[in-house]
Amino acid sequence: MMWITWSLAVHDEQEVLDTVAENVLARARRSTGQARTVLETLNAREGDDCSPAHINEMRRLVFNTPSIEEIGHFSEGRLDCTSWGPVDGDIRLTAPDYMTRDHLGVTLSVRPALRGATPKLALQAGDYNVLLDPVRFVDVISTSRVQMALATHDGRVVAEVNDPDPSLIASLAANPRSGLEGRHISAVRSDADWTAITVEERPQIFKTLRREQWLLLPIGVFLAGMIVTIIVWFSRRRLSFSAEIALAIRNREFSLQYQPIMALSSGACVGAEALIRWRRPDGSWVRPDVFIPVAEQSGLIREITGQVIAMAAAELGPLLRSDRSLHLAINLAASDFSGDHVFKGLETMVRDQGVEPGQIWLEATERGFMDYSAAEDMIGRAKAIGYHIAIDDFGTGYSSLQHLQQMTFDVLKIDKSFVDTIGLQSAKSAVIFHIIEMAKALNVTTVAEGVEDALQAAYLSENGVDLVQGWLYSRPLAAADFRAFVERNRAEQVIAEKS
Ligand code: C2E
Ligand code: CA
Ligand code: CA
Repeated sequence: MMWITWSLAVHDEQEVLDTVAENVLARARRSTGQARTVLETLNAREGDDCSPAHINEMRRLVFNTPSIEEIGHFSEGRLDCTSWGPVDGDIRLTAPDYMTRDHLGVTLSVRPALRGATPKLALQAGDYNVLLDPVRFVDVISTSRVQMALATHDGRVVAEVNDPDPSLIASLAANPRSGLEGRHISAVRSDADWTAITVEERPQIFKTLRREQWLLLPIGVFLAGMIVTIIVWFSRRRLSFSAEIALAIRNREFSLQYQPIMALSSGACVGAEALIRWRRPDGSWVRPDVFIPVAEQSGLIREITGQVIAMAAAELGPLLRSDRSLHLAINLAASDFSGDHVFKGLETMVRDQGVEPGQIWLEATERGFMDYSAAEDMIGRAKAIGYHIAIDDFGTGYSSLQHLQQMTFDVLKIDKSFVDTIGLQSAKSAVIFHIIEMAKALNVTTVAEGVEDALQAAYLSENGVDLVQGWLYSRPLAAADFRAFVERNRAEQVIAEKS
């Protein structure tokens, strides 16, 4: 808005100056034209120089021509009479300062016959000259703040109003230019004979600016109001979304699905990852990647994690106790690494359900482990109890190898985006090979996520990946369905062993 008002103010002032310069020039042209007509009329006269009739005619012309104040008649270069009457002294016609294109001699500062009168401008042709008040040339209606000057093309000032800086006028006459420049803004107009210049000081623009600002203030306020409204609307929405999540926690609207994790070599189901599901009261499902980040930001994730552990314990505890080869992976967020809530939940699971700590995997993304010193405590404690630590979405984070070596973790989950590249001739497809190599070098169990086809499975198997998880094997299942899946899988294993 400041920029707009400034531009508008400059533009407005420029327009004023252009108009005034135009008017000054028109005025000068009119005055010159009137003087020329008078000079032509008088030069066309024959005889009776300085007779009463001649003087009378000169006087009549002075009265009838507003811009002309006095007329003089010269005889052999000497003034012999004026519109006031005969002249006695020896006043000589001097060489003009400047010639107009149609040969009027211009003398800039002439003392008129009348004592005490201000210097006049003389226009001369033939035996006559006319005296004009220079102010007449620039006598245009304008506000007091505009400085005006009429100059000859060679930069001599004929008339001025409001004391413009002479050096500036000379520079503008010599090199006509308009617009904002340093401390002033100017306009220049020229015709065949004259150059009209108008100037305004910069502070004047600020006055105009303030006026423009007052005009534009309501628009600015309106726009600002709109922006604020939009921001408030968005943050309310976000606020109401986290409020909705808080309500969902209280009303226990979350449930879990379990996605089987398989051993590549044997085809045996070795465990499952618990994946949260949120069904709103209106029946719509909200995806975890939509609400988990909001829950993390608003500090609600810890309660969610607490509920996830409790639900998983209740739903899969008995299965885990009856089959020690199965594990359960639970997703943790970064803020789950501080405080006791995870341990308390898991302790209950171990104590009440008889689950071995080694059957529990805690998954966190590299981002979750980023602040390693904060996570270190908890990881150390978890490892001491016997829980397994898994790095989720491996390859998408920022871990350096050194960082990874420093950490004591057990499982690497290779992100789906790398698995997706298997069989594609993309630059990224070379990356998965190195990621697998890196995991092997770190000597940890590898899980490939998001395996969707047999080609991917074959590649992963060839390259020595241990475990797989993906739609090729099973989508995430409700607890009962997962139990049935495991049962079926065990039966298949037995058949496979027998044959
Ligand atoms: P994630 O931990 O990487 O989970 C794997 C995601 O990939 C799951 O999406 C799963 O359904 C999906 N997936 C598995 N196999 C395939 C496949 O073959 N193809 C495709 N296209 N997708 C597959 P989901 O359940 O939508 O979860 C999304 C993310 O939400 C999870 O990514 C995890 O970061 C987060 N999340 C889910 N449950 C929890 C939870 O209980 N706690 C926390 N903190 N985060 C959770
Ligand atoms: Ca995960
Ligand atoms: Ca993952």
